Amino acid sequence: MPSKRQIDVGGVKIGGGAPVAVQSMTKTETADYDATMTQIRAIADAGGDIVRCAVPREKDIEALKKIVVESPIPVIADIQFNHTLALKAIEAGAHCVRLNPGNIGGPDKVAEVVAKAKEYGTPMRIGVNSGSLPKHLHELERENSVEALVQAAVEFVDLMERLDYEDFKVSIKSTSVPNTIASNRLLSQKIDYPLHLGITEAGTKWSGSLKSAVGLGTLLADGIGDTIRISLSTFHAEEEVKVAWEILKALKLRERGPVLIACPTCGRLQFDMDTVVNEIEQRLEAYVEPIEVAVLGCAVNGLGEAAHADFGITGAKNEGLIFSHGKPLRKVPQEQLVDQLFAEIDRSLEAGRTVFDKNESAAGAEWLERIEEENAGELTPERLAALEAKAAAAEAMENGQALPMAPSKNAERKVITLDEDASPTAGRRFTRA
Ligand code: SF4
Repeated sequence: MPSKRQIDVGGVKIGGGAPVAVQSMTKTETADYDATMTQIRAIADAGGDIVRCAVPREKDIEALKKIVVESPIPVIADIQFNHTLALKAIEAGAHCVRLNPGNIGGPDKVAEVVAKAKEYGTPMRIGVNSGSLPKHLHELERENSVEALVQAAVEFVDLMERLDYEDFKVSIKSTSVPNTIASNRLLSQKIDYPLHLGITEAGTKWSGSLKSAVGLGTLLADGIGDTIRISLSTFHAEEEVKVAWEILKALKLRERGPVLIACPTCGRLQFDMDTVVNEIEQRLEAYVEPIEVAVLGCAVNGLGEAAHADFGITGAKNEGLIFSHGKPLRKVPQEQLVDQLFAEIDRSLEAGRTVFDKNESAAGAEWLERIEEENAGELTPERLAALEAKAAAAEAMENGQALPMAPSKNAERKVITLDEDASPTAGRRFTRA
């Protein structure tokens, strides 16, 4: 379940059913104002809702005072060990302060920070990390590390509540994906404060993205988690934001920019799809509209599973087809496929709807029919999947079972930014941002 409570970090709502907020962390020395602001802008441009900056030194506080004013997105001050810096970060105007109540110097110092946060109306993120649990939980940690992590988090929540402070979100971080999943599941049953999700030190862009997608994706699919940060070993923080968005887009939790779908290719492929897909992916980065673009390696299956895509291409040896919502737009010479696809996308976005030319569309349909006829007997992966689905449906009918059609638990907080016509076959009306 998404958390019941909501906090407001500089205007970004977290929890209580708000869209899952994407955050990243600057990798610059915060005191280096110019470098930090450059990175914050890159994070914001990539779609980051919030940014976190490390504040380990006095000189970082000076830069922070300017950063919180100039940053296009809210700034969280990341404090470790030093409660004086936490007090100063709040006074500097940080939109939120992240601290681990276990390493800040004892309950009195935590109380001092909380009093300052209350005075300034500043929310906090309180977090526990595997590897830095309080001493009295070390034995439990050896027996059951998940329970120890959750116990530590619950104790911190109790401490905050005793201090009459409820303006916080909670994080449990672990380098272990299974522990991250299990501990956040357990914690979400025990508290109703917003949860920050992340896998600590996830790794490189490749392995870290996969670990994060598995760990965070599993929790988000369960409806657990209100803000996410992907921790990657890269100096380009905006890469973390891009990965976070791909996870949210894959789960249909939020929409931002295009979605590219592409067949895996097989021996029926008749053009250099690797190059084509990469070029399309790169060119799509210039678009903000949440359009779905499909690339099929061949037209043997017709438009098949890509029929719902806003735009798509399918190729053959010398010619290819551009289509939209299952209807051919035009056939074009192979070498013009990508350029013509983008010409069609631009034309439709400009017009606010898909623009079909009757004659070009008819010629495309004829071409497609011919290819389908020529390959009618081919057992392609898509046709096999369709046959299997048909057989499963028939079996379910025979057993009197309904086919699984459970709506996503997250459907209620899905953010839609496209206007859709009432008829699903009518094609979408596009709204240019
Ligand atoms: S048969 Fe399917 S997987 Fe193979 S190239 Fe065609 S569309 Fe792609």
